[in-house]
Amino acid sequence: MPRIRHLRAFTVDAQGGADYHDQPAGHWIDDHIATPMSVYPEYRQSRQSFGIDVLGSLVVEAEADDGTVGFAVTTGGEPAAWIIENHLARFVEGAPAGDLERIWDQMFRATLFYGRKGLVLNAISGVDLALWDLLGKLREEPVYALLGGPVREEQVFYATTARPDLAEGMGFIGGKLPLRHGPAEGEEGLRANVEVMRSMRERVGDDFFLACDCWMSMDVPYATRLGHRLDGLGVRWIEEALPPDDYWGYAELRRSLPPGMLTSTGEHEAGRLGFRLLLEMDCADILQPDVGWCGGLTELVKISALADAHGKLVVPHGSSVYSYHFVITRHNSPFAEFLMMAPRADEVVPMFSPLLLDEPVPVGGRLTLPDTPGFGVRLNPECELKRPYANRRR
Ligand SMILES: [Mg+2]
Repeated sequence: MPRIRHLRAFTVDAQGGADYHDQPAGHWIDDHIATPMSVYPEYRQSRQSFGIDVLGSLVVEAEADDGTVGFAVTTGGEPAAWIIENHLARFVEGAPAGDLERIWDQMFRATLFYGRKGLVLNAISGVDLALWDLLGKLREEPVYALLGGPVREEQVFYATTARPDLAEGMGFIGGKLPLRHGPAEGEEGLRANVEVMRSMRERVGDDFFLACDCWMSMDVPYATRLGHRLDGLGVRWIEEALPPDDYWGYAELRRSLPPGMLTSTGEHEAGRLGFRLLLEMDCADILQPDVGWCGGLTELVKISALADAHGKLVVPHGSSVYSYHFVITRHNSPFAEFLMMAPRADEVVPMFSPLLLDEPVPVGGRLTLPDTPGFGVRLNPECELKRPYANRRR
């Protein structure tokens, strides 16, 4: 097995890409979506106004001593590049390219004094995914084959979108709408949240499920009232209603919602112990780790096994190919998420556009992954990469 010769971390000089919140004005993804900052009226209209796009995309490249290069993209930008170049690279460079477990363990243990979750796990995830891509290329196998192989032929998708009604026509099995109003917007906001879900239900068929995403914007009493007002509208789950660390609140909310309405969370959780808390405290029916943030594929495998043993679904958050290669290998991940990145949510475009080439998208709501080695994508040479911390302290 070749050894890893170089690890490199880049930022990207282009809008969009892995930091999909970094979009031009007028994009639905930045149009008055409820957030924890919605308590402040001046930050309600735009998530970019409080800095949701401040990190930017991150590209990690791992080069083996035979010249093979694996790479991955996630968010994290310049601060994640600093952590990777100045701290994590020492555990990667010189190691055999197949030593994913040991490298992950060393990165995690060595950063415990300032890491554990958030940006550091985001950086670790980027490195881990680049190493999976490299290993796949060295073994000439797609990552899903390294994970044990597919359990079904193709995967089906639900869409996260401002227009679930349009997503139904594109073949998706359901549509998740980000709600616009949080508790600070009072009764009027609550009514508007309910009305938009009701109008979507009127426009889609009975078999098409709806869900709503609350992006950490609510509290237990509000989310409970919302759930009961939505009862009967075919809302399959209420997502991330509360701040990610409010395990107690999630457990209470899950007990309080109408029968059949599920709770989901986890896109801002990290590590197997974080997900163990969600599972053992009965916080959610569906876990949604983001493979680019939760610790990478090496950790997602463990999170998923734990969830499976608890009888819970794992439907990874966004993350395009990095999620798809996983979802196709697990029965407790029966479908995948697709983020509708067209500005008006009216067509299917690659999720991480323009950063990747060959990025697969669902057609008619379905996707069969090609057997290209690694994650099967290439970096778009038209996106300019910058390497701000090359070998700074080594
Ligand atoms: Mg979400």
